[in-house]
Amino acid sequence: MQAIDGHTRLCGLIGNPIGHTISPVIHNTLAQREGRNLVYVPFHVEEGRLRKAIEGAFALDIHGLNVTVPYKSEVIGCLAEMDGMAGKIGAVNTLVRTANGYKGYNTDATGLYRAMRSEGICIEGEEILILGAGGAARAAAFLCVSKGAARIYIMNRTKEKAQKVAEEINHVFGKECAVPLRLEDYGKLQAGKKYLAIQATSVGLYPDADAAVIEDGAFYERIHTGFDLIYRPSCTRFMKLVRNAGGKACHGLKMLLYQGVEAYELWNDVSVSEEDARMVYDKMKEAMGIEE
Ligand code: NAP
Repeated sequence: MQAIDGHTRLCGLIGNPIGHTISPVIHNTLAQREGRNLVYVPFHVEEGRLRKAIEGAFALDIHGLNVTVPYKSEVIGCLAEMDGMAGKIGAVNTLVRTANGYKGYNTDATGLYRAMRSEGICIEGEEILILGAGGAARAAAFLCVSKGAARIYIMNRTKEKAQKVAEEINHVFGKECAVPLRLEDYGKLQAGKKYLAIQATSVGLYPDADAAVIEDGAFYERIHTGFDLIYRPSCTRFMKLVRNAGGKACHGLKMLLYQGVEAYELWNDVSVSEEDARMVYDKMKEAMGIEE
């Protein structure tokens, strides 16, 4: 580890809870690899203290921050500026220091894109099922349409939320490309067609690892590739159901990697090589006890 001295820059993660984060592995490994005098630490921020935390971070000359649950939307009100894509998504996970305050970005979306590309998954021209209508699903939905998906289906337990996301997307992109669906209405999808599916609900997340948002095998027959944003556990029930039906399935650890890489690049105005990203990924897997 780089020696901490009077020139050390500080970056960090704010959220609640924060204890299980592996983001420090990403940033401290990259800083060490580059010989950069930067340290990344997690900050637990209690409910009601977000604005004070952001103002305090700015006053302390903190170079950049990641933001996680439950503050990705609330933090928008504490920013000096917003990146366009983050504004459309309505969620921010990365703050970059500017002269007047922090500027908000959404590297969950760009990180997901890099993760999918690295898995050989193509978005352009695809019809895509997005399970969920929360923050991560919104990022996935905006990403898919901006990268040329032919159509996306927003499938959510609460139909009104799916409807709202679909309406916003259709409005922003000026075309009817997003369709809301109840989870149980997958029978309405085109018969015989195979879809790319992005699992963006919190169902199946550790410790409730035996759950999937849809259990019916007939649904999984319709999926050629399933990308689960969850990475704990590294093989979710959703992934098992996709594979049992003959599809390809990936977990979300690469998305976590690349959202961090993108944040690091924004903070330090550098481009991280694929070789370095792979090295960081190996460290993340080691930290999580994942072998494959
Ligand atoms: P969120 O905003 O809280 O949204 C949760 C979503 O899950 C909602 O659509 C909710 O449906 C649905 N859901 C929750 N419990 C359900 C249940 N029992 N049955 C059916 N649907 C249910 O959370 P988020 O921030 O979008 O995160 C979603 C997942 O993505 C989490 O597991 C998170 O760990 C993961 N994630 C991964 C990365 C990464 O880097 N890999 C980044 C961000 C997020 P309702 O609207 O009906 O409540």
